[in-house]
Amino acid sequence: MAEAAKKAQKKIKPYAPAKACPKCGSGVRLAEHKDRRSCGKCGYFERK
Ligand SMILES: [Zn+2]
Repeated sequence: MAEAAKKAQKKIKPYAPAKACPKCGSGVRLAEHKDRRSCGKCGYFERK
């Protein structure tokens, strides 16, 4: 397989706007997980 073809197959994830943490404020974004969102700063998380 050609190297150029391999690179073309690489998937680009669309950048989803992350939700802000309700405890820390708009400066802290919640990390996206498969079934929940969580804050790395205060430990807050919510289920999807
Ligand atoms: Zn937080």
